[in-house]
Amino acid sequence: MSRRHQFRLPNKVKFQRALLAWFAEHRRDLPWRHTSDPYHILVSELMLQQTQVDRVEPKYREWLEKYPSVEALADADLNDVKQTWKGLGYNIRPVRLHSIARETVATYGGELPRSAEALRRFPGIGRYTAGAIASFAYGQDEPLLDTNVRRVLFRIFVASGMMKSTAMEHHLWEVAARVLPKGQAWEFNSALMDFGAMQCTARTPRCATCPMAAFCRYRRAQAAQTGRKGA
Ligand code: SF4
Repeated sequence: MSRRHQFRLPNKVKFQRALLAWFAEHRRDLPWRHTSDPYHILVSELMLQQTQVDRVEPKYREWLEKYPSVEALADADLNDVKQTWKGLGYNIRPVRLHSIARETVATYGGELPRSAEALRRFPGIGRYTAGAIASFAYGQDEPLLDTNVRRVLFRIFVASGMMKSTAMEHHLWEVAARVLPKGQAWEFNSALMDFGAMQCTARTPRCATCPMAAFCRYRRAQAAQTGRKGA
């Protein structure tokens, strides 16, 4: 039996419904949500690594005006590319983007591969980014786990043990794969990311107004702790 079947995921359907309903009301309008171009999604995802959304938005627009296609980026001079990136920091990212564009043109006829597995062969595309491109650009049922999604899934479905251990990381990838409703990866993954950024935040989760509060393990553990202190 695969590891995928070795744990239960109670409240999965309730969670899916509550999350999608929350998303319908609260979703962020972000420029990369208006495209399914895999290259545009790739650019946004690399820019968003360790960088705030509001800093990425203007640079994303500027970048795509200058390099609107994977071919345009592949043809560009690397020094110009680095110059265009200026202001975002973590400067290995434009070098990686440029190299991914060149390999995409040279090996894949200018179209990024569709499968997460093939995407992960590019230096600079990790498991998360591969899942983002596969689900946001190609609509594939691929999970993703970034800092926000990890925290949300940990709190709702686990809430004990070390969130940042390797074993927990594996487990949470499994949870992310199992909670994903088939055929809704774009919406569901976007919803998870927004929920982590806006509702279930790291320091001040808004539990009092949260649609998951009735079945969130973290919330229950907090309530039990408060009850013990008050006893
Ligand atoms: S109840 Fe609180 S901890 Fe649980 S998912 Fe909602 S905001 Fe996050």
